[in-house]
Amino acid sequence: MECWKCGKKAVMHRKYEGKSWCGDHFVEQFESLAKETISKEGLFQSNEKVCVALSGGMDSTALLLFLDNLFENWRDAELIALTVDEGIEGYRDESIEIAKELCKDLDIELHIASFDDHFGKTLDEIMEDKDHGCTYCGVLRRWLLNKKSREIGADKLATAHNMDDELQSIFMNYLKGDMKRMVRLGAKPAVLDREKFVPRVKPFRESPEREIALYAKLKGLELHQTECPYVEDSLRFDVRDFLNDMESKRPSTKFTALRAFDKLLPKIKDGFSGDETSVRECKECDEITSGEVCKACQLRKKI
Ligand code: SF4
Repeated sequence: MECWKCGKKAVMHRKYEGKSWCGDHFVEQFESLAKETISKEGLFQSNEKVCVALSGGMDSTALLLFLDNLFENWRDAELIALTVDEGIEGYRDESIEIAKELCKDLDIELHIASFDDHFGKTLDEIMEDKDHGCTYCGVLRRWLLNKKSREIGADKLATAHNMDDELQSIFMNYLKGDMKRMVRLGAKPAVLDREKFVPRVKPFRESPEREIALYAKLKGLELHQTECPYVEDSLRFDVRDFLNDMESKRPSTKFTALRAFDKLLPKIKDGFSGDETSVRECKECDEITSGEVCKACQLRKKI
């Protein structure tokens, strides 16, 4: 197998485009796709402080490395990183070490926000008498990422969502009939014009998960291999398996589905966005919510 551009030994073959790529040309093409997403969607401005949500996993470490290179040439743009420590022994401690090492190597300021400090319990403690770890973890982590990134002065919060994550969310929301949530997807999810809301951006949204893994490997990043002990069988996994099956039978299904959604999104957005005036401050924590009390505070009471 040879690279279609230079004839060198290829490291991967993309069925969906019928081409093989050597390491150098793959990296070049991968980065130019992410740059295209950034410029097409206007994800960053030159004088912004951008905070990367850094879990220490493969996708977020690859994103931090990529943005660090990119921002070298952007005058006045600043990059920082934020890691949420949910308190999952034997799992999160390993990825936090990777995050610390990488930030030290790249000379990037790293902030760590823990469940224990903010909610009074680690996820391990919460799970002693609860099920559905991902529900607690997801809601509390989103709350913490927004609050903490705002407190450290970030203008944008960059997350490492990839094409597979995005498609899974599209299909899950469709299957659940949750159109309001579905129209909040995209590389620059619906931005709430609220001081308390730090806009999120997804530079890797058009990159398949397996290509981010290859990029990370070719860039020499250390990979976090341990699986979270609370990972549960969920609708997301069923949708993931369905999409992977479709992709292997009909290469390029995922790209086609994402492009179709992107054409549809502007047309359905207004109809399902809901009333922005219903967004208010939570009675308990002052963070923004669409109800009286935000989801994080509702869960906090159950802990
Ligand atoms: Fe949290 Fe679930 Fe991810 Fe574990 S698998 S880190 S519980 S969201």
